[in-house]
Amino acid sequence: MMKSLIILGSTGSIGTQALEICRRDGYKVTALAAGSNIDLLEKQAREFAPLAVAVFDEQKAKELKIKLSDTDIKVLSGVDGVCEIAQGKGEIVLNAIVGIAGLRPTLKAIEAGKTIALANKETLVTGGELVNRAAKEKGVKILPVDSEHSAIFQSLQGAPEGSLKKILLTASGGPFFNKTRKDLENVTVAEALNHPNWSMGAKITIDSATLMNKGLEVIEAVHLFGLPASQIEVLVHRQSIIHSGVELSDGAVIAQLGTPDMKLPIQYALTYPERSEFAFEKLDLFKVGTLTFEKPDTDTFRCLPLCVKAINEGGLAPTAVNGANEEAVRLFLEGKIKFLQIAECVEKALCQVNNKKEFTLEDIFEADRLARECVIGN
Ligand code: NAD
Ligand code: MG
Repeated sequence: MMKSLIILGSTGSIGTQALEICRRDGYKVTALAAGSNIDLLEKQAREFAPLAVAVFDEQKAKELKIKLSDTDIKVLSGVDGVCEIAQGKGEIVLNAIVGIAGLRPTLKAIEAGKTIALANKETLVTGGELVNRAAKEKGVKILPVDSEHSAIFQSLQGAPEGSLKKILLTASGGPFFNKTRKDLENVTVAEALNHPNWSMGAKITIDSATLMNKGLEVIEAVHLFGLPASQIEVLVHRQSIIHSGVELSDGAVIAQLGTPDMKLPIQYALTYPERSEFAFEKLDLFKVGTLTFEKPDTDTFRCLPLCVKAINEGGLAPTAVNGANEEAVRLFLEGKIKFLQIAECVEKALCQVNNKKEFTLEDIFEADRLARECVIGN
């Protein structure tokens, strides 16, 4: 029996690649959700005939309802609609929403006992504690889709409990590897969007250029694998072939290698614990030739150490750096701030966070709001 799948963020980079896999492997797609791109969502709905779709943007949802009125597909709207989709019929919820907007739907999906295939790293960065607690209570699995975390997860298959000593988290270094702060002063949006190895959504592509993405991934790894940041080493590996690895108690290093293609980690989260044929380009190490490793330049790329500081402080600090970054990236993409100001915004929000050790979901959203306000008021 093919597993059934709910895809949140189906019109994005991860969402469309997941649908490519569904198209090929015949997964039953039971529901889809997106932010506002109803033209693509309509096409997807007509092709995959889900029971329901949701659009976050209320007005766009109304338009889609009219477009799909000749079908039986239910059209829901707003954050409640997206959450309802996350709890509907279907075994696996692939969360490929971008930003903290993915947190509530993840929690709703866990509440409904779904297996979570998680691409939305901001879910764990902001709500890691709540998500882990809820998943434990419900006995729900969280399967990482982020390529590094999938690689770590794959490397740990068969490793005895307690044997994980260190995580080797690889980073491509992004388009601005080896640049100085002076070089980065006036970089354009187009230059920042020009990632050397990966084709991804705009927000994560900018995060890769600032190394914020790697910082968010350190936090994500802390929550997924239970090691402190001090046992997570970031290595700049320009070829993006080693997707990450682990060091075990006897010193053995185990890593997962592949082409820079998100379809493999997406597919593994869907087939886990099984594996199935990969129909896309496979790795040819002769073509790659050389693998290199360097330390990240944390003086130039401030977002990475700021994220490490945030997770070491814990509480609402990761939410503050995430919220400030989301807002700063939006402003950068709109041409309203410069590239180096992104890290300044993140640092300011981290300094101003009103932190608590014990916190609720509402505290997270409030900390997110305050961090964004701190950026806009800049
Ligand atoms: P994207 O911008 O291409 O797509 C985002 C999707 O989320 C779109 O379908 C959009 O409509 C939807 N969306 C946005 N706001 C929403 C809301 N409020 N409610 C419902 N849907 C909403 O982004 P992406 O590159 O596919 O990344 C998605 C997530 O996966 C991010 O958290 C990113 O960090 C993570 N991720 C992406 C990649 C990649 O290769 N693209 C790799 C690793 C991790
Ligand atoms: Mg990644």
